[in-house]
This record gives sequence, C-alpha cells and structure tokens, in this order.
Amino acid sequence: MKFRLSILALLLALFTVTAFAHGNEVHVKGTIEKINADSVRVKTADGKSVEVKLAASTVYLVRSNNEDKPAKAADLAVGYLVVIHATSKDNALEASEIKFSVPIRTKAATSAPAKVKP
Ligand SMILES: [Zn+2]
Repeated sequence: MKFRLSILALLLALFTVTAFAHGNEVHVKGTIEKINADSVRVKTADGKSVEVKLAASTVYLVRSNNEDKPAKAADLAVGYLVVIHATSKDNALEASEIKFSVPIRTKAATSAPAKVKP
C-alpha cells in the first residue's frame, strides 16, 4: 500500500512538471562543460552533452541563498550547475532562460584559507 502511494505521488509530480512545460520548450539540466562565445555545452545527468545557443534575449539568473538574482553571460563558468529553459529552433536549442548555481565544493575551495604547514 505504501509502495503504491509513493508511485502515485511520483506520477502526480511528473504530471505536474509536464503540465507546466510550455510550447516547444526544452529543459536542460546539468553541469556546464564548455562555454563558447554564442553557446554553452551542458553535461546532463544521463551523461549526454547538449549544446544550447545563447541569444541576446537570454535571461541569466544566479541562485544564491535560496534567491534568484539577475546575472549575465560572463558570470557563467565551467562546472556550474544549470537549469536551462530553451526553445527548439531549426534543430538547435536556444536558451530563453539560464538559471545557474555555483557548486558548494568550488565555493568552499575558494573561500577556505590556505593551509600553512607548521
Ligand atoms: Zn520552462
């Protein structure tokens, strides 16, 4: 019974996500693998590399302290986690919104004081 309920909850959650998808929008979630002048390559959880074009209209948001703050293309870096809302155009993906966050590991590594040997 418990098992069945969790399956139902999962299906419901999936349905909710699908219901919110609009038009021919594609969501790309993963880690930035490469940044080019007009595109980014994202490594997704299933190991695929997805190229998404950047447009002049692309909106950038950085997630920090549970808040989304406006950002710009130059703020992106390899290794950052991204959720891209893209639209499919001529067999290519074009980003309408890129939400990204700096991995905690990197943050800790850069802010931790250098260890000095006694
Ligand atoms: Zn979307």
